[in-house]
Amino acid sequence: MKISVDQSKCCGSGMCVLTDPDLFDQNEEDGTVVLLQEHPDAEHEATAKEAAGLCPAAAITVS
Ligand code: SF4
Repeated sequence: MKISVDQSKCCGSGMCVLTDPDLFDQNEEDGTVVLLQEHPDAEHEATAKEAAGLCPAAAITVS
């Protein structure tokens, strides 16, 4: 599994951080997403996909 984030789309809503704080954080200056794990363990697959689905800006891709 690979997670990608598009900083230019991110609007800083923080849904991803709420969904899985092991995978995502927010930049302290502008609130945009910070990807903590590009290739997380399989145990994070469900929450990674959930975060991608919840992101209002469609800035997260899980492949
Ligand atoms: S949920 Fe989407 S828009 Fe919100 S902070 Fe995360 S990546 Fe950015």
